[in-house]
Amino acid sequence: MTEDQETAARAAAFLAGQEITTIGCRKCGTEVSGINGRYSCGGCGWVNHWSEGHTELPPAPGED
Ligand SMILES: [Zn+2]
Repeated sequence: MTEDQETAARAAAFLAGQEITTIGCRKCGTEVSGINGRYSCGGCGWVNHWSEGHTELPPAPGED
């Protein structure tokens, strides 16, 4: 197995434990997929706030 394949396998295993959902971007309406309630739009750069996620995350430094 190459290093790339190992990385892909680890990513797949990680993703298998995630909850992937899709919503419409609140800014531009593009359909965006998110993991555990976190979304990031590739069209306009909109991201939802970390606190809207389904899992507990520590606040990032400086993020309010
Ligand atoms: Zn958008």
